[in-house]
Amino acid sequence: MSNPSPPRSLRPATLLVRGGTQRTDLSETSEALFLTSGFVYGSAAQAEATFKGEEQRFQYSRFGNPTVAMLENRLALLEGAEACHVTATGMAAVHAAMLSHLKAGDRVVASRALFGSCHWIVSTLLPRYGIESEFVDGADLGQWERALSRPAALVLLETPSNPMLELVDLPAVADMAHRAGALVVVDNVFATPLLQQPLRHGADVVVYSCTKHMDGQGRVLGGAVLGGAKWVEDVLRPFLRNTGPAMSPFNAWVVLKGLETLALRVGAMGRSAAAIADMLAGRPEVVRVLYPFRGDHPQHDLARRLMTGGGTLVTFDLADKAAAFRFCDALRIVDISNNLGDSKSLATHPATTTHMRIGPEERARLDITDGTIRLSVGLEDVEDLMEDLADALDAAGGRQGTGAARAAE
Ligand SMILES: *Cc1c(COP(=O)(O)O)cnc(C)c1O
Repeated sequence: MSNPSPPRSLRPATLLVRGGTQRTDLSETSEALFLTSGFVYGSAAQAEATFKGEEQRFQYSRFGNPTVAMLENRLALLEGAEACHVTATGMAAVHAAMLSHLKAGDRVVASRALFGSCHWIVSTLLPRYGIESEFVDGADLGQWERALSRPAALVLLETPSNPMLELVDLPAVADMAHRAGALVVVDNVFATPLLQQPLRHGADVVVYSCTKHMDGQGRVLGGAVLGGAKWVEDVLRPFLRNTGPAMSPFNAWVVLKGLETLALRVGAMGRSAAAIADMLAGRPEVVRVLYPFRGDHPQHDLARRLMTGGGTLVTFDLADKAAAFRFCDALRIVDISNNLGDSKSLATHPATTTHMRIGPEERARLDITDGTIRLSVGLEDVEDLMEDLADALDAAGGRQGTGAARAAE
């Protein structure tokens, strides 16, 4: 295999198309799909040398695979990380990043506003293994300071968070976390590697669900963990090799091809999201709009410091559950779905779906109301989306829609 991989100084849009590519002797243009579980050895001696670690080559796709390696190298170049491992799902990435590093007696501090399954790992799984865990309000530096005045092994946070798009002052929290002895793990799914680079703001490890914007077309699941070469080699790699949450080469190939258009998609979806946030803010049915790059976002200045764009999600509140349901049911282009980052625009009612299990008290603490809607803005024409949303808001407010939006084929 030859490596026409470009140098690291290239810009993200170029890295997304060319980074990490390894060509076989057949000189194919597009990344090859190595749909194989194993690899053969030329001799018994080569097998022995490989198992001794004297020869570096592919052995078994649970450990590594050429298509998977291309994706890992592309993501590492994009993130500016020394090393990357991809996993079967985003949750496998979060789980591996945490469990590979932690042991009984350790302490974890996490922001409360986490993706549901990340919240479950911290609140329910870790204590079963004798790992103490504590949640703080991510936007409140005083709470971080108190929690990190005692030693901690790991800090997990999500910024911007799901679904309220709350930010964490990452440089400040990373500083406190490092003084407490903690590894700082950031779930960067909402920002994508294009809009925020947590490693530059003090994070040690970045995790992704490749299921979201990276595939971006609703086809496959995947996850990624990125960090320093030593931590990945000594801590993460043995855990992944032996516990086996490997990404399928087929899924890696789909994500590789998805990445080629990531900058175009995130750019277009972000422009539409910003326009839609402004449109929603002007509607009488909408009680509150949250979009990090709008001047009325409570952490607007922090968003401008950490991010280079406001992202592809908009969260807003309608009066109550009934209005939110009327809104969702009246949508004719936007689908009701709990996925996000897709080329299809998707609306979620968190209180009855993604954030149902955490209960009303925890939802109140996270500021999720019964009227909250999370909108993942896709690639449809923004005018069509705005007409669909306007009609659905008419319905939410108890009025007939104008009928301007046509049902999707
Ligand atoms: C989707 C998501 C995950 C989990 O990823 P899966 O690929 O669904 O396992 C974790 N964190 C965030 C913020 C997500 O949006």
